[in-house]
Amino acid sequence: MKTNKTLKSPQKKGKCPLKIEACSHVQSLKALQELYFSTLSAIPHAVIGLKNRTIFFANEAVEKIFGWKPDEIVGKKTRIFYRNDEDYEEIAKRFYPRLEKQRTHIENFPCVTNDGREILCRVSAAVIGNVLTDKRIVIMYEDITNYKKIEENLKNSEQKYRELVENANSIILRWNSKGEISFINEFGLAFFGYSEQEIIGRHVVGTIVPETETTGRDLSSLMEKICLDTKAFEHNINENIRKDGSRVWIAWTNKVVFDENRKISEILSVGTDITAIKTAEEELRTYREHLEELVKERTQQLEKAKSDLEHSNIKLQELDRLKSMFIASMSHELRTPLNSIIGFIGMTLKGLSGELNEEQRDNLSRAYRSAQHLLALITDIIDISKIEAGRLDSFPEIVSLKEIVDSSITAIRPQLNEKRLTLTVDMPADIKLNIDKKRLLQCLINLLSNSIKYTEKGGITVTIQKANSDIDIVVNDTGIGIDEKDIARVFQPFERLDSHLQIKAGGTGLGLYLTKKIATEVLKGNISVQSAKGYGSTFSLRIPVDLNLSIKDN
Ligand code: ADP
Repeated sequence: MKTNKTLKSPQKKGKCPLKIEACSHVQSLKALQELYFSTLSAIPHAVIGLKNRTIFFANEAVEKIFGWKPDEIVGKKTRIFYRNDEDYEEIAKRFYPRLEKQRTHIENFPCVTNDGREILCRVSAAVIGNVLTDKRIVIMYEDITNYKKIEENLKNSEQKYRELVENANSIILRWNSKGEISFINEFGLAFFGYSEQEIIGRHVVGTIVPETETTGRDLSSLMEKICLDTKAFEHNINENIRKDGSRVWIAWTNKVVFDENRKISEILSVGTDITAIKTAEEELRTYREHLEELVKERTQQLEKAKSDLEHSNIKLQELDRLKSMFIASMSHELRTPLNSIIGFIGMTLKGLSGELNEEQRDNLSRAYRSAQHLLALITDIIDISKIEAGRLDSFPEIVSLKEIVDSSITAIRPQLNEKRLTLTVDMPADIKLNIDKKRLLQCLINLLSNSIKYTEKGGITVTIQKANSDIDIVVNDTGIGIDEKDIARVFQPFERLDSHLQIKAGGTGLGLYLTKKIATEVLKGNISVQSAKGYGSTFSLRIPVDLNLSIKDN
């Protein structure tokens, strides 16, 4: 066995300054040295031995941390570990005075690696022997760059988390299995109206949960339920209470944290105030219910009104019918004596009762015109009343349209001649109609006599055209025309439009009303007008060729 040998160390064999003399405790010393070096090489931090500030020993971790092989740095100054001379002197200045206390360390000291990379080290030093006489020390460099970075990151994320929690527009609450509040964020404090000192450690029940709505402070059943079904507890909506006693609705999201024994250690709750939504929902519900009631009530009222209306409508219709019948019979009673008045006046005017002087003739002529006006009025009223009472029957027969047109012209010819107006008739070869002849003639005479009454110069044109199963009879004049705003009024009863011809033309205001009634209700057609003030009027009457067919169609 070799008695003088260099112990296995991070340095090359034989370069180890620790030589051991052979002696009786060589075995144990050797074992101690082996333990010593294997410990040094197992340490993950760089360890160097210094004598007179010169490296005489370095462990294997030096290479891992600084990139220097242990052999390379033996005999060098530790300056190689620092960025510059100042740092090198600085560390000496900070170390040596303190080393009297045998060991010391400096946190976060900047060092450099062999390839110039900066690292942060915790530098610890211990004296071997007497620092003043021996000047040998051991220095350990612990690379804390990564720790620092992790620490920094941790600090940053903690800061971010804190900011998030504090600035959140939600209540963030932590409470333990005993129901005690262990944390609440600023927002939560302001929301519930407590200071941190007032609320931390307090039981949730009676603080933010109304006491009346729980089974007291015993949360064990709740905790059991939570344990059994944490998922169901994840989201819930509760009515909570503030310090001032006001009630609020909060939607909670809960995260249950368990300890290693599967017991609840704490609950993290995030709450959002939904009082406004709840109130709106409530209002909406009340409103909806109220609305339903209102709709029901209104429907009942409407139904009643409808049935009342139907009742009164039936009554009204009946009354209307009775009125029309009354007018019809009364008018008949009036017409008979009136006809005899007209007849006798006519005979007297013709001189059958002897010679008349000028004044008598003039007075009788006035009476004759008035009686005729009255007769026309009564005749119209009788017709209208009959139509309205549903008593104006139609008597269709096969007739020649030309004959009807000729008859109407014969009837209005005297007025036409008197006013020196022209008349043009444009119609196809004779058309046969199955129609109520008397009523069509009445319509035509009405339209033609109106055209003559309201035309001062020019003339009247009658155009007749077949349109499929209908006949269009168009009466056009070059008269005073009708203002656009008055057009709708002309078919209303007793409507006479203002014009300089109103008095001279005479009339009852019933002619067009009656014509329309006959055209639609008796002849089953319709009538329309186009006119412009000062440019004449065009009345168009459309009636079916065969009244019977048209009645069947309807
Ligand atoms: P009236 O007996 O007054 O002629 P109508 O019912 O026949 O009554 O006509 C209603 C009103 O329509 C008339 O008073 C007149 O103002 C207007 N009117 C009717 N036909 C014409 C027409 N061809 N040209 C201009 N105005 C007309």
